[in-house]
Amino acid sequence: MKPQIFSLKFGINTCYIIKGEGTIMIDGGPSKAREKFKKYLIQYSINPNEIKLVVLTHADFDHSGSAGAIREITGAKIAVHENDRAILEEGRFNFPPGVTAWGKISHAIFEPLLKKIPIPPQKADIILNNEDYPLSDFGIDGRIIYTPGHTAGHVSVLMDNGDLFAGCLAHNIRLFTPGPRLPIYAEDIEQIKKSWKLVIDQGATMIYPGHGKPFHIDSIIKYL
Ligand SMILES: [Zn+2]
Ligand SMILES: [Zn+2]
Repeated sequence: MKPQIFSLKFGINTCYIIKGEGTIMIDGGPSKAREKFKKYLIQYSINPNEIKLVVLTHADFDHSGSAGAIREITGAKIAVHENDRAILEEGRFNFPPGVTAWGKISHAIFEPLLKKIPIPPQKADIILNNEDYPLSDFGIDGRIIYTPGHTAGHVSVLMDNGDLFAGCLAHNIRLFTPGPRLPIYAEDIEQIKKSWKLVIDQGATMIYPGHGKPFHIDSIIKYL
């Protein structure tokens, strides 16, 4: 059975619900996304209790701010990589530095504004490490793979059919880039290129980024 994919947009962030035999969610959106999340569940006819897991691609405020609220609504577990755990659990503001000209400028513009948004500390339920984490127990034909670079604890979800839920391994939103590109913010851009090689080797084809629309991997290969 081909899994169904539902997009949930929260401002500039896109989270995804993947429904195979079981149902999981990719990323928890920014703070204060609770009401909009509930509306999406109604819109997509998804029973809150179906969602058993929220995989945080990383713990930056815009990807994790409502994870705790989503757990309250659904009962899902929250999974985060051990290297990003403290950011999540301390409610720490984390915004990787700009690595392109616009990345640097926009970082300087956005940071003082974004810093004011309160971030709730949220406990993780599942701590990921550098090993693949199979999702079969959650009824999903895929696995979580460690793809560091944007943050030290960045992960992606690679489905057996080649769909890759890539968080900030790429950006594809006008505010950031004119098309699918490497992210404009990163702790280690060279590491990101290594992570891309890994996911390409493992068969990634369609990319579902945390910012912007899905795209085929061919459109990013030239930037690696
Ligand atoms: Zn980020
Ligand atoms: Zn982000």
